[in-house]
Amino acid sequence: MTKMSTQRVLVTGAAGFLGSHLTDRLLELGHEVIGVDSLVTGSSDNISHLKTNPRFRLITADLAQGLPPELKHQSFDRIWHLASPASPVGYVKQQIITLKVNALATIELLELAEKCRARIFVASTSECYGDPLEHPQKESYWGNVNPVGMRSMYDESKRFMEAAAMVYHRERGVDTRIVRIFNTYGPRLAVDDGRVVVAFIKQALRGEPLTVQGDGSQTRSLCYVDDEIRGFLLLMESPDYHLPVNIGNPDEVSVMQIACEIRELCGSKSEILHTPLPPDDPRQRCPDITLAKQLLGWQPTISRRDGLLRTIEYYRRKLGISAAA
Ligand code: UDP
Repeated sequence: MTKMSTQRVLVTGAAGFLGSHLTDRLLELGHEVIGVDSLVTGSSDNISHLKTNPRFRLITADLAQGLPPELKHQSFDRIWHLASPASPVGYVKQQIITLKVNALATIELLELAEKCRARIFVASTSECYGDPLEHPQKESYWGNVNPVGMRSMYDESKRFMEAAAMVYHRERGVDTRIVRIFNTYGPRLAVDDGRVVVAFIKQALRGEPLTVQGDGSQTRSLCYVDDEIRGFLLLMESPDYHLPVNIGNPDEVSVMQIACEIRELCGSKSEILHTPLPPDDPRQRCPDITLAKQLLGWQPTISRRDGLLRTIEYYRRKLGISAAA
């Protein structure tokens, strides 16, 4: 990565899973970071090690209620908009917050970016592809989303976020970047987040049944968080490119296989328990990362085995479990 000059940076969702890892990297690069987080799905534990860092400050605020007034008069070089519930369990519990933080807060942050001439990065999602009819998913695919379904507060507000970023870029010249994030895992996902990797690790370490929804033949492509964040930084600092870019690992795997691998790596004897598939659960998901390779020279480098081992180690410590049940 080319050396960057010091930046004044705003990170929304700084206490969340991706936001806290991103904040760590930005601070390592020497930048000054103002974080905003409501701590609804994020956790102060994720940033407790930053308490004494003079280049970091957290504003605890819910962006769904509007931008905190003190931010409106500040100037930034970069704005990263990562705040949002991101787990299907989480956004169904926080439906209106999810809508507002991805739609209303995005508009406010685009206007702030315009005012202070910041470059702004918005965190979109592979959910924009819905239950995809094209496989793997290229950025040019428009998706197959249920606009009134149980995930629509997330899928459609993220699609709106993308539309808003493009409008502010085209009409107002705002310097925007849009990432489409595919399933990402690693330390700092909340233990009760509900997403597949952390759910299975928790269950395997506790010797509880692994809850495979449906027959487990649905697929996902899992990206380790360090690879994902490296992609974010490259995209933010990439030359003028404003359309969405997929950042995810194309190593596609079935949910059943994820369960079996995690059980084995945890040394667990947990059984597999099939539970009902949630509505609108996508059958398959795999990014085409040709664009990220060409534009950013980015591709994932951490194997699923290594990433899972690192993640399991983190949850072993977090849950205080020394050996698997
Ligand atoms: N899943 C599962 N058991 C769980 C949690 C998730 O079988 O305890 C499945 C879920 O049905 C989906 C996949 O794992 O097919 C990924 O779900 P996740 O909630 O991680 O995110 P999504 O990719 O659906 O947004």
